Amino acid sequence: MPDWQTELREIVEPAVKQSATIRQLLVERGAIQKTGAMVRSHFDGNQAILFADEAGFSAAGDPAVQSLKAEGFGVTTHIIPAAPLPKASVELAETFRPLLEVPGPVPIALGSGVINDLVKYAAYRESLPYFSIATAASMDGYASAGAPLVREGFKITIPTSAPRAILADLDIIAAAPDAMTSWGYGDLAGKVPAGGDWILADALGVEPLDDLAWPLVQNHLSGWLANPAALARGDFSAIARLFAGLSVVGLAMEFHGSSRPASGADHQIAHLWEMEGLQFDGRHVSHGACVAVGCMTTLAMYDWLIEQDLSTLDPARIISSAPTLGDKYALIDATFDDARIIRRAREETRAKHLAPEALGERLETLVSIWPDLQARLSSHLMRAPDMAKLLRAAGAPVNASDIGVSPGHLRETFFASRFIRSRYTLPDLLEEAGLLNRAVDTVIVPPMFAAE
Ligand SMILES: [Zn+2]
Repeated sequence: MPDWQTELREIVEPAVKQSATIRQLLVERGAIQKTGAMVRSHFDGNQAILFADEAGFSAAGDPAVQSLKAEGFGVTTHIIPAAPLPKASVELAETFRPLLEVPGPVPIALGSGVINDLVKYAAYRESLPYFSIATAASMDGYASAGAPLVREGFKITIPTSAPRAILADLDIIAAAPDAMTSWGYGDLAGKVPAGGDWILADALGVEPLDDLAWPLVQNHLSGWLANPAALARGDFSAIARLFAGLSVVGLAMEFHGSSRPASGADHQIAHLWEMEGLQFDGRHVSHGACVAVGCMTTLAMYDWLIEQDLSTLDPARIISSAPTLGDKYALIDATFDDARIIRRAREETRAKHLAPEALGERLETLVSIWPDLQARLSSHLMRAPDMAKLLRAAGAPVNASDIGVSPGHLRETFFASRFIRSRYTLPDLLEEAGLLNRAVDTVIVPPMFAAE
């Protein structure tokens, strides 16, 4: 396994060079001291505004501000309270925009997921490039062009721009709460089943793999996930490699032009819980923790699917009892309470719904390619019990109960996950093949993953 500096040089730096937006990604110990010089080299003007929440500011605010001042920048700060936990919403991000108006200070996001997404959105809307100081390896959004935000109750990924430069000080990131590192690991682990979903879409002619984003993420993923115990120990090289992996995923989304390389059914499950504002032990459950459980649920479904023989499916029989678009709308109406969510879910579902004739063709394809597809999935995917071991070693949740989700709620979430994105993923295949209920009844039986 290459050391992390080699990996940065050989994998991350060439990817950054291909980015249309990101000019520099600095990952090293003590990097915070270079904040001022880095901002100077990539931005115009002499004013900077640093956005942070209280936790992020106490972790890295003072040295960042000092470094900026030493470089001659006038610095203002905009610090939002840590409690209640700020929600990544368009409504909150809009309140940042007046602070960026002409003459436009350099926007700096100092923090992790929420702050980064809020600033990314506000800067984009003001047509300003921004600078990102990462304080935790907690998610893959630092280098991504999309801002996943809640707008009117619906979590969507809004097209924006990636930061112009990203600074990641390993001393600061290693000092972040252990749980945050485990969230980043969970977010990265989700790329395993997300890759399975993309293979399905590729094999069925829905959305082909590409030759840039796919290998960039999937060829390195097992290496990035290989040493969760070192991560839990706070080992610098393990944290650097996790950060590198998360950054590369962000770049892969830019290159592909959508979040397909990073997000499948695992994320659809997580987004539903984030939209609900899922709480456990009095706290919001983080994105990465939701993804970890979404990842495990999806992998368990894949384990089941791979054991089936879909070459014996009877398309004519399946079509005769397949749900119509009207049936799906009725299910959507019964699943969600919020009229805005229902409207969006209907649109997303309509976009991928197949009329009987097209469904027949899809099923004929599935029957004919199944042995190949089964082999591809089998060689790509990690088995769920193996992933459970890795996630546990990283300190991430595995079972739905680990984040306060009951078995019934998990079932409902898995069923609902197919409605919130037009993206073709595992629950869509299960539904089209007439296997969705059987899969859920067989697989979602607690405890899904018993501790060793
Ligand atoms: Zn994610």
